[in-house]
Amino acid sequence: MASITLENIAKVYPGGTRAVSDINLDIADGEFIVLVGPSGCGKSTLLRMVAGLETISDGQARIGDKTVNTVEPADRDIAMVFQNYALYPHMSVYNNLAYGLKNRKTPKNEIDRRIRAAAKMLEIEQYLERKPRALSGGQRQRVAMGRAIVREPKAFLFDEPLSNLDAKLRVSMRGEIKHLQKRLGTTSIYVTHDQLEAMTLADRLVVLNAGRIEQIGTPLEVYHKP
Ligand code: ADP
Ligand code: ADP
Repeated sequence: MASITLENIAKVYPGGTRAVSDINLDIADGEFIVLVGPSGCGKSTLLRMVAGLETISDGQARIGDKTVNTVEPADRDIAMVFQNYALYPHMSVYNNLAYGLKNRKTPKNEIDRRIRAAAKMLEIEQYLERKPRALSGGQRQRVAMGRAIVREPKAFLFDEPLSNLDAKLRVSMRGEIKHLQKRLGTTSIYVTHDQLEAMTLADRLVVLNAGRIEQIGTPLEVYHKP
């Protein structure tokens, strides 16, 4: 686990769009931050800069003692969960979970230990030999989370992970993520535009507007301002 520090972060895309400006944020070790705000306000850009999927135009991002700007994406110890699951269709669930660890030369027995533990936690033990297409949407999203969990990263980044699920499943998965968060205590940044998700999950909410932080506070402070 690790704290995350964002200092004067800005993003200007090659075409000249200024997507994010003057972002200053200290995220404590183990804290769960939810990023909210209208479509196009820069949530995804900010998350992708922390993940290293997007270059940082200005400012500094630190994860633990590492400065993101200067660390190769593969060495950042961050795991990201996407709304489109991003599972490999031709691989079994087991191999989807193993893939990132194999690439990092994790020993086989350690890979197996982590997969069994994550599969148990997520209740997908009985699906390990299946291909993703033989799973329901909720099961696929659990596998996507499993892939992040087995990495044992310093931080999780979630990009609207539940927005492809139907309303009922979204509610139950929201509870499961809350439960996982209590159990693992991993520092997290979670992007959503679902207010109930934000209120349930957030230690602190960060409201973005036009690329800037408009408000930071607990769900109670943000949603019940007089
Ligand atoms: P959000 O996730 O809050 O919907 P985004 O981070 O996707 O917002 O987008 C913020 C702004 O940056 C928008 O104006 C969007 O059009 C622009 N933008 C996003 N991605 C790119 C890109 N690859 N190239 C140019 N502009 C982009
Ligand atoms: P690993 O498990 O080692 O992260 P992956 O094959 O899952 O390896 O991902 C390789 C890279 O591609 C990662 O940096 C990941 O963030 C990125 N990536 C994977 N899926 C997506 C997606 N659906 N959209 C954007 N980037 C993705």
